[in-house]
Amino acid sequence: MLLTSLAAICILSFHYGMAVPLTASNKTLGVERRQAFCDESTCLLPKCRCISASIPGNLPASNVPQIVMVTFDDYINSENYNYYAQLYPQSDPITNPNGCTARATFFVSGLAETNFIMVKTLSDLGHEVESHSEDHTEPQFWTREQWDEEMEGMRERLAAATGRTLAQLNGLRTPYLQLGGEDQYDMVEDEGFLYDSSMYGGSLEEDLSPLVWPFTLDYPPSPDVCDTIRCPAVSHPGVWEIPLRRQYTVDGATSCAMSDGCITSASATVEEVEDFLLHNFLRHYNSNRAPFMISMHATWFSNVPNSFPGAQELPPRPDPPGGRLPGQLVPDSRLDPEPYQPRFH
Ligand SMILES: [Zn+2]
Repeated sequence: MLLTSLAAICILSFHYGMAVPLTASNKTLGVERRQAFCDESTCLLPKCRCISASIPGNLPASNVPQIVMVTFDDYINSENYNYYAQLYPQSDPITNPNGCTARATFFVSGLAETNFIMVKTLSDLGHEVESHSEDHTEPQFWTREQWDEEMEGMRERLAAATGRTLAQLNGLRTPYLQLGGEDQYDMVEDEGFLYDSSMYGGSLEEDLSPLVWPFTLDYPPSPDVCDTIRCPAVSHPGVWEIPLRRQYTVDGATSCAMSDGCITSASATVEEVEDFLLHNFLRHYNSNRAPFMISMHATWFSNVPNSFPGAQELPPRPDPPGGRLPGQLVPDSRLDPEPYQPRFH
């Protein structure tokens, strides 16, 4: 699970973080629920983490495993299931350097479109399935009641289909990565979700801005990590945010919140897809090793045919074994204590 693996390597307290200043917008709401700045002497793991580019535990980057998170959004059915089966073959499982089998996270939407038998199969294989709403409408217009109906409703449907408990299905991603301000995050708190992964930020053109590690929303997010409308403006203690950072084409000219938004030409080559993924992987690997999220829709594979063979060769390429790693993060307590140094062909 995402957050427990972060906690597993967060052994020590942190010495550096980004202060979160008051802004005109967040001065007006819920001031009593938070402080002006994230105080790293009191905001401590595993319950609290300031928005920060610092490496948990103040570890040197060279000793930090590069976590790669692979996520797929939207419905699951016969249109895309075979892609997933090929990316994660049972007969030839892809393993992390510590021997754990790599898995993906599926943010599932579509009560009408999704085949829940296939969802159960993916869940039984160890993949994470989480709520992405029942109907995939635009959440910026949802009422608080709709937030419950759409996100908690799908969570309950997923639990019924997979046999997992609600506590085991504890993450969510919003449709279109649209946020709902306090309506959304109050729902997240009240329904007991552990994390949200809908918030994105980063410069529109590639620069060397620091990469943030996952953080909690004890303090409202800064525009650097939440530059859409309806960002939360008050504290939501203990709610984890696994942020999406903008990714960039190799020339740095085009950015995207989801990986499939940068390579959109149907004539893109396998090498272009691989170079794009490697380019963004290295931004993380060569800096502070903040978790690298490759977020996709399976429609990418049908719209850009070479994206699929490109995704099958995702970096990093461990040696040995395998030579490919479309992997989820290193799982929770099984995190390999040995430093992982991927090599590239
Ligand atoms: Zn979606």
